[in-house]
Amino acid sequence: MDPVKSVQRSPDFWFEDGTIVLQADNVLYRVYRGFLASRSAVFRDMFSTPQPADEPLIEGCPVVQLHDTAEELALFLKALLPSNPPTAFNTSPVCNLSELVSVLRLSEKYDVPALCAFMESILVALYPTTLEGWDAGPALRYPLFSLFSDGHGPLIVPGYAEGEEDHVKVLDVAVARGLRSILPAVLYCVVVYEHTFISQIQDKEYLQRCITALPELAFARKNIEGCMYSSPKNNGCAQQAACAQVKTEMGYDEARETDPDAMCDPFGLSGPSIKYSGGGVCVNCLEISQLEYEEGRNNWWEDLPKTFGLGTWEELREQDEARTQILNNNLLVAARAQSS
Ligand SMILES: [Zn+2]
Repeated sequence: MDPVKSVQRSPDFWFEDGTIVLQADNVLYRVYRGFLASRSAVFRDMFSTPQPADEPLIEGCPVVQLHDTAEELALFLKALLPSNPPTAFNTSPVCNLSELVSVLRLSEKYDVPALCAFMESILVALYPTTLEGWDAGPALRYPLFSLFSDGHGPLIVPGYAEGEEDHVKVLDVAVARGLRSILPAVLYCVVVYEHTFISQIQDKEYLQRCITALPELAFARKNIEGCMYSSPKNNGCAQQAACAQVKTEMGYDEARETDPDAMCDPFGLSGPSIKYSGGGVCVNCLEISQLEYEEGRNNWWEDLPKTFGLGTWEELREQDEARTQILNNNLLVAARAQSS
């Protein structure tokens, strides 16, 4: 049997004037040798190795067997040579975290630093180092996020997290690549949204960090709730008994929360401006309660890296800056070596 017959051509990457055929699993991709070589040092070296004279050709093109899955190679090629122009709604070549991690892995493997940097920039936006960034990005981190109603029901916006172990995959890749500043937010997502999958974390040290952080995050949640529902004296409240009762009832409601995800999610806790939006407490109590809530969140966010044994935000940012410097230097050295 002719082995070429049993394989199939990629519907997305089979260009009639292509000059090289890549094969992953049983799928063939007819693409452009010079283009790939210009993007990837690994392909450049691979193509410069002379092929044996009896090497089989497909429609005159040499065939290169790759050890990636067909799915991963298609994603990588899509990111490298986009088959569709980006639209206003989708400027990213990847649709979810799982795809992002695959493209990042292959960009590293085939040495395409620009694509690595682009994928990392998406991760940096998704897993910020500031609380403002965190609060601004839920649409991207949740599986599906109901943004607002357009008059015909809620508008559902797909986020990057789609699979059940997406944040775990990002954690593995961030640890492997030494991308430090995103780790606290990634670990937080793992603990809050994917705690049933933490045993799959590859680096067991990080698995331990997640386990250690769980009770601390639950305590943080309780602590922020406590700030919100406490009844400070001398705050100018003219109806202390009534306000105290509303706050106590709210506190009881919160204490009845049994969703394990919510219980260790201090930053997912809605504030007094939302909780008391139906009225019930006076303006003074609302204002103080809101301030206490914001202060509590800020303090716990500041401590988030420490919760996972990672030092301070400042140290993590510095580590990433040093890493970027090393990567840029390497690029410069590679560019000089190529031009000489
Ligand atoms: Zn009051």
